[in-house]
Amino acid sequence: MELTFTEEQAEIRKTIISFAQRELNIDVAERDKAGVFPRGLWNRCAEMRILASLFPEPYGGDGFDFTTTVSIFHALGYACKDSGLVHSLITQVMCGILIHLFASRDQAARLLPDIASGRLIYAQAITEPGSGSDALAMRTTAVKKGDGYLLNGSKTMISNGPIADRVLVFAATDPTKKALGGFSCFLVSTGDAGFSQGKPIEKMGLRTLMNGELFLSDCYVPADALIGREGQGAILFNEVMEWERTLIPACLLGELERVLEETVQYAQEREAFDRPIGNFQAVSHKIANMKMNVELGKLALYHAAALKGSRKHAALETSVAKLFISESLKQACLDAVQIHGGYGYMTEYEVERELRDSIASTIYSGTSEIQANIIARLAGLKPHATTKLS
Ligand SMILES: Cc1cc2nc3c(=O)[nH]c(=O)nc-3n(C[C@H](O)[C@H](O)[C@H](O)COP(=O)(O)OP(=O)(O)OC[C@H]3O[C@@H](n4cnc5c(N)ncnc54)[C@H](O)[C@@H]3O)c2cc1C
Repeated sequence: MELTFTEEQAEIRKTIISFAQRELNIDVAERDKAGVFPRGLWNRCAEMRILASLFPEPYGGDGFDFTTTVSIFHALGYACKDSGLVHSLITQVMCGILIHLFASRDQAARLLPDIASGRLIYAQAITEPGSGSDALAMRTTAVKKGDGYLLNGSKTMISNGPIADRVLVFAATDPTKKALGGFSCFLVSTGDAGFSQGKPIEKMGLRTLMNGELFLSDCYVPADALIGREGQGAILFNEVMEWERTLIPACLLGELERVLEETVQYAQEREAFDRPIGNFQAVSHKIANMKMNVELGKLALYHAAALKGSRKHAALETSVAKLFISESLKQACLDAVQIHGGYGYMTEYEVERELRDSIASTIYSGTSEIQANIIARLAGLKPHATTKLS
């Protein structure tokens, strides 16, 4: 099986790469330092149809297949040095995928055009102060009231949370049922009574991505704010995670390719002991590892993308892609800083920012440990009877 982009995919990737290199990389260091969300650049990305590729044309999208969408985000991750902006865009697309897969036709027709055009910003809220990896231990509740639901609880670390116009909130509709029908997903809008958004939380990296707390205090939503059926939340969460664990590694793989290129160039230009440092095996083998991981990452990524694109279950393949590519990127960034020596530690060379950004990738969308648990289980290892599944 040969892994090559179609002519159309190659053409789109070329356009995205030249757009991102031309427009998205100006003042990244300053934005990172100030921790501001670049709304103008977000709008430009939307104009370039980056948010629209996957969604059907009647809903304002461009109707491309999932592999093409993955190849677009792969190109964006490679060419855009603002990883916070890239993560913000992925968050939006993931909310669109959830709606596309599970919402009613009416809801999709109403909601997807604003996602595809970027007119409204979306967020997805699962994590709470007391529950992250153990997502279904969430305390937020949604209790039926009249024709709608009353939501109470709080969420934290939510990407786009402080700036979102709409949030897909997961809540327990029947805490006694837990994963077997106890959770549901609701659309909450800014301005809904009882809903409030916290300020952006200061972070180590991805500083142009806004993460924050969300508060629901007797927040009433009508019945048609329910996305999917009542009790379908855990199914919805698991399915959407598989798509997310493909789209996210697509960007991370692009970043890994960029870090490799920058490091090769530096290792050829920087001299020590009368030769380029790339001539030292201790340096060249780190670069060889980066290249090997890029090549293996491509196989894992596009295999997972093909499976999800044909609507197959791919919990194993998507966890493999997420775990392998995020850990490879983190290691590559550490090695890149080392190869850049003291300059690698200085902000001017930007690899220190790549390292700070990369660390988050082994935490969000399920930590590396959680991906490993999933992989071990799907390799046939049975969990202990009293161990909760992750
Ligand atoms: C940049 C960023 C963006 C995020 N965006 C969002 C978002 O948009 N929406 C959202 O809902 N959440 C978001 N999160 C939250 C993220 O999903 C959680 O941080 C993550 O799931 C881990 O949960 P936790 O932080 O509570 O850590 P914990 O679950 O408390 O884990 C702490 C440590 O224990 C380990 N651990 C826990 N359980 C197990 C186990 N069973 N086996 C082995 N090890 C285990 C973990 O791997 C980790 O190392 C974001 C986080 C970050 C950093």
